Amino acid sequence: MQPSRYRIDPRTCPSCLRPQNSLLAQDRAGQSARSAHIRARKIEREYTRRLRSVARQVTDLIRGFDLEDLTITPVIRSALDRYASTVRPWAESVGRLMVAEVARRDERSWFAQAYRMGRALRDEIASAPIGEVMRERQAEQVRLITSLPTEAAQRVGEVTREGIAKGWRADQISAEIMKTGEVTKSRADLIARTEVGRTSTLLTQARAEHVGSEGYKWITAGDSDVRASHKAMNGKFVRWDSPPTLDGLTGHAGALPNCRCFCEPVLPD
Ligand SMILES: [Zn+2]
Repeated sequence: MQPSRYRIDPRTCPSCLRPQNSLLAQDRAGQSARSAHIRARKIEREYTRRLRSVARQVTDLIRGFDLEDLTITPVIRSALDRYASTVRPWAESVGRLMVAEVARRDERSWFAQAYRMGRALRDEIASAPIGEVMRERQAEQVRLITSLPTEAAQRVGEVTREGIAKGWRADQISAEIMKTGEVTKSRADLIARTEVGRTSTLLTQARAEHVGSEGYKWITAGDSDVRASHKAMNGKFVRWDSPPTLDGLTGHAGALPNCRCFCEPVLPD
């Protein structure tokens, strides 16, 4: 996990598009999958903004203490743990909102290509059982958001222990504790990017499998930031029941850490 990977480029959306002429050559289902992908970037930016506000709280909380007084560390840790439980209802709300927005966007993109489907297929997609996926995704958001302050608390404890063990000066230890805010912000960015994509992929998969889809076409963001291993997957057909393993991680398009790729479901005729 290199910090540069956490960068959110505001120009991401336009760069996700392929050149206009090749886009025109695609069928309209492909276009609607792409425009849905662009809308997902908007949800991701909003989610990033919200998660960063937790990282900011963590930073402010740590900075409020005299960090050169090493006896204060347990107090900082318990303050961060308390913040984790205070932030829980907010995390539930923010997580629910993100999942609902992704589900709405996902549904719109399905119905944008509804003209290609028969009535029966449309009705089936509308009745796809996505409730379980949504509940699991919401619970995961609460776990991840509250882990921002609890992992910061752990880091403060570890840094202090390590600093003392290695004989660092108090100001060196406090400088290292201060970095916790930056680490938390990076985690917030990574969570926002990964979770929006993962939620979108899981919902797409639930709907697609419900109507008998066996797999999808892997589409990358199409820019220079795409990892070589993901670039090699572009355009390939992937079965829902056998996600590939890329760079040691197994998952579908959009569901891997920091992955901006997405799925274009292949529907049965
Ligand atoms: Zn990717």
